[in-house]
Amino acid sequence: ERARLDRLRHTPCVTLDGQAVELLANIELPADAPTALASGAVGVGLFRTEFMFMNREGRLPDEEEQFEGYRQAVAGLKGLPVTIRTVDIGADKPLDRMNVHELRHEHLLNPALGLRAIRWSLSEPEMFARQLRAVLRAAALGKVRLLIPMLAHVEEILRVKAAIAEAQESLARQGLAHGRVELGAMIEVPAAALMMPVFLRHFDFVSIGTNDLIQYTLAIDRADETVSHLYDAWHPVVLQLVHQVITQAQQAGKPVCVCGEMAGDPDFTELLLAMGLRSFSMHPSQISLIKQRVLRTDTRTLRARLAATLASDRPQDTWAGG
Ligand code: PEP
Ligand code: MG
Repeated sequence: ERARLDRLRHTPCVTLDGQAVELLANIELPADAPTALASGAVGVGLFRTEFMFMNREGRLPDEEEQFEGYRQAVAGLKGLPVTIRTVDIGADKPLDRMNVHELRHEHLLNPALGLRAIRWSLSEPEMFARQLRAVLRAAALGKVRLLIPMLAHVEEILRVKAAIAEAQESLARQGLAHGRVELGAMIEVPAAALMMPVFLRHFDFVSIGTNDLIQYTLAIDRADETVSHLYDAWHPVVLQLVHQVITQAQQAGKPVCVCGEMAGDPDFTELLLAMGLRSFSMHPSQISLIKQRVLRTDTRTLRARLAATLASDRPQDTWAGG
């Protein structure tokens, strides 16, 4: 079966009714780029750069080290787009205590609700500037998209955009080569999902982080085993939020991707296609399996099932029963 799936690697990803579907890879380190390419992915939909900051001795990566990492990822994708997410440090992805002395803040009280991801970056402006400059410099070498995690406030959006403008100006002043990036927002906090018009005004694309969207919608710590039975991707409200985000992005003509685990879970492929999703980003090992599902799907047959499922208080059963 694995060998059969592997043969799908170079098959175009199109549904039975001719809908093209983009399958992208999630990576954690620059060295993962060849694996992403070999999987048949048509780009990287999520480069979790925090892994360059974790599990290391000594100092956090400076601008040059980051630039080298992003350059390596871009080169490894050989012209395919690379979506670089700014660090999502905090919560289940803490820094080593060794590196903490470099930082202003250390908050461990309730980490998933605390100084995490973009909140962390905005609280460490020099650190954020170094990362933005490194990403913009890598963008001179290939197609780079910049993705911001965990946004929830319009104020954060404005501060991010100001920091990017400042990074661009400083690179220009120094005469350092840099490129343009499309700017995207992770939709992974319910507040963001419920204020899509604002996000769609400010961003070129959005990417739904279902892992955190589930965690924050259901108030279930994704890392806490004592409540893992309540962590439910099939919860009706989770599905409604995902559906609304996809629909609103498409109505605004902006690309929308799912890059949480849901995208690489074959149980959700048809449902996400039914919701209109045409871009999925996942662990490279899942690409062929999800492609096989897509190749077997006729989206025209799914409309009635989707409506019934979204209206159901037991969506998993309704979807399966359809
Ligand atoms: C997510 O939250 O779904 C996501 C893709 O980001 P991460 O898993 O890195 O938090
Ligand atoms: Mg997340």
